[in-house]
Amino acid sequence: MNDQVRTETLHTKMFINGEPTPSAAGKTFPIFNPATSKELAQIPDATAEDIDHAVRTSKQAFESDTWRRMPPSTRERLLLTLADLVEKHTDELATLETLNQGKLLAFSKMLEVAGSVQWLRYMAGWATKIEGTTLDLSIAFPPGTRYNASTKRVPAGVVAAIVPWNFPLLMAVWKIAPALACGCTVVLKPAEETPLTAIRLAELAYEAGFPPGVFNVVTGRGETAGAALVKHPLVNKVTFTGSTEVGRIIGRQCADDLKRASLELGGKSPVIVLDDCDPRTAIEGAAGAIFFNHGQVCTAGSRLYVARSIYDEVVQGIAAVADGIALGSGFDAAAQMGPMVSSRHRDKVVGMIAQGKDEGGEVLSRDSASADGDGYFVRPTVIANRACKPLSVVKEEVFGPVLVAMPYDDLEEVLAQANDSEYGLGASVWTNQLDKALRLVDGIEAGTVWVNTHNMVDPAMPFGGFKASGIGREHGRAIVDAYTECKSVCIAY
Ligand code: NAD
Repeated sequence: MNDQVRTETLHTKMFINGEPTPSAAGKTFPIFNPATSKELAQIPDATAEDIDHAVRTSKQAFESDTWRRMPPSTRERLLLTLADLVEKHTDELATLETLNQGKLLAFSKMLEVAGSVQWLRYMAGWATKIEGTTLDLSIAFPPGTRYNASTKRVPAGVVAAIVPWNFPLLMAVWKIAPALACGCTVVLKPAEETPLTAIRLAELAYEAGFPPGVFNVVTGRGETAGAALVKHPLVNKVTFTGSTEVGRIIGRQCADDLKRASLELGGKSPVIVLDDCDPRTAIEGAAGAIFFNHGQVCTAGSRLYVARSIYDEVVQGIAAVADGIALGSGFDAAAQMGPMVSSRHRDKVVGMIAQGKDEGGEVLSRDSASADGDGYFVRPTVIANRACKPLSVVKEEVFGPVLVAMPYDDLEEVLAQANDSEYGLGASVWTNQLDKALRLVDGIEAGTVWVNTHNMVDPAMPFGGFKASGIGREHGRAIVDAYTECKSVCIAY
């Protein structure tokens, strides 16, 4: 545990209508430090009653017009002020994230906090750039009548935002920043494992001057608090990032209620190394694609396809990188990889590695399940699958530092293998052969295809999934469609 963190000073209440709020029923659940497995705090376990309170508050804030009819430039300025406050609290927020999520402190600063600031500033700009169109109509009745027609974008209403635990602060900002820029009000539910930075974010928004009720945070379990939020009749739009399994449940509920929904779901992203790629580049690139954030990344490059001529060299090289990675607390400057987020998740990852071995995969790296101390540590693992068997680790998302590697002989074959997945979130191609790179870019079924890089995201670049990786896009211009409704206006004269 970091000496600087005093657990008694943690902000652990929900944040509703501008106030720290316990669960009305007084129920709580524990959260843990994944590097030590020690309990950090008790967090309100929201019931349907708490969710109803938060949603009604949010609806009131939406209908009061103080937010949606605020001059867009004022909304923009508030988001920019929030960005400044998040930046000012970099050390505090990064420390909270590392304490609660386990990631390296440098990543908490660079990715969670600096990334959140970048997204808030970019999205703030959209508040003043939402526009409609004017239309020339062909209606010929009644004779002599003309029409002036236009479209305008209006805020979708109350947004329920539900996020996972892998990038707790950044994922929250990916939802709230565009929703607020578009004039919506928000009820955010962080993952039960990692609520601390979301709570602080809402407090900082209030400090920045956001009217009470515009941005609320509820804490609780998915099956209870999350489900109650999704089906609340006053919620107009659900934006969800998480597993495909839960995405299907939420999608079904939203279809029944005819509610708008964006779903950012799981992935099993292929990394394709062509025969001209320098093996050192491939080793570094593929290791980064899977081991970044301890493999707890939706676009993690978890399936590796290497041209047969360089397969052994590349795969052995990645196994050597894995074996050299120092595990430890995110606060330890010498650590290169932190723990998994929870004991449940550690057990899932270790179980999938064992299953991969049982099904015929060959583990090239050293023992994965070696738990260093009490935390939820899993060693980075490389599994060779020379016979290209349909192992579970090839098909299913592990969401941990586990790579499975297959050789291939030609482009058509590797393209078919890459697309032989229910998922379609990300993919990367490693080559300097332009024609082959472009053929793969054209053929790969994924929301993002990187060439000679992996896992790079930007607020200007749309992000989302094909197939079971989701519905809808985040970032860029796509956010306007995601968080507004189109209203046609037709005036006869
Ligand atoms: P999860 O689906 O278990 O939980 C995500 C969130 O949904 C949590 O807040 C949880 O409390 C809530 N939830 C769970 N059941 C619910 C229900 N029935 N109704 C409403 N809410 C419910 O996912 P996780 O384990 O927290 O995160 C890992 C998953 O997230 C991985 O599959 C990963 O690929 C995915 N993910 C996707 C993206 C993306 O942008 N596509 C980004 C990050 C993570």
